[in-house]
Amino acid sequence: MVGVDLGPGAPVAVLDVGGTEIKTSVLDGEGHLSPAVHSPTPRGADVVERVLDAVSDHVEQVRDAQPAPAAVGLVVPGIVDADRGVAVFSENLVWHDVPFRDLVAERTGLPVGFGHDVATAGRAELELGAARGVADAAVLVVGTGIAAALFVEGRPLLGHGWAGELGHSVVDPGGPACVCGAHGCLEAIASAAAITRRYTAATGIEVPGAREVLALAEAGDEAARNIWDNAIAALAAGIRQLAAILSPEVVVIGGGLSRAGDALFGPLADAVGRTTPPHRVPELRPAAIGAYAGLVGAALLGREAAR
Ligand SMILES: [Zn+2]
Repeated sequence: MVGVDLGPGAPVAVLDVGGTEIKTSVLDGEGHLSPAVHSPTPRGADVVERVLDAVSDHVEQVRDAQPAPAAVGLVVPGIVDADRGVAVFSENLVWHDVPFRDLVAERTGLPVGFGHDVATAGRAELELGAARGVADAAVLVVGTGIAAALFVEGRPLLGHGWAGELGHSVVDPGGPACVCGAHGCLEAIASAAAITRRYTAATGIEVPGAREVLALAEAGDEAARNIWDNAIAALAAGIRQLAAILSPEVVVIGGGLSRAGDALFGPLADAVGRTTPPHRVPELRPAAIGAYAGLVGAALLGREAAR
């Protein structure tokens, strides 16, 4: 899958629990991941119990594989304290302080590598993907929301799970309201969901996603053009904040919006480097592992736990 080779080591049952779907896979002893299986993320008051059921079911299903998995690799969204193995908070899945690492270890009897989806996806891009060999890097995931995995001198900057919430950095104080209560957060202007929502708010026309807004902009629709250009300017402002504070050599951009390709990367690189800044201008690169970076990262965590 996705051409990533983790090399020989322990086989791992791998899960990436997202806001809308759970991806499962198995890392074999040679270092290859099986094709991902997608299922909807459970919702409701018993979401923790049902996610635990999904993990146990996956481990049971792959237990008969030869060789059987020696560990579980699991990543989840929200605020995650990977050191303690605890999912601190998820706005989306509505959970607080869930000790997933211990709960999964109890249920499966296997060692568990546990982490945050974006931080772990970032690590996969750093070790095996678009930022391979780069010491100072940021991996931005621009999808329904916006979050970043940060690496300084080769080490992840985690802040016990609180670092990297770039989506809630304010890039336009007079801008639209954000779910967090602030105004003009990067995520409220430039996420794929925000681009879609803002187009509908401006025109009354429903569109399925940001891709359609870009297509309309390219066809000469003025409202779509404004919203797309606004998103690019906001992303550039966010990346310039990163450059001023952390000075990454490389900024990798993944998530749904990165599939816009040159329509995103061309104008964004122009906007990031437009003025002579008092900081290093980072090189922008599209994610190499992309949609499956969370699974690859979970596999890396599982391998570590198996040792
Ligand atoms: Zn916000």
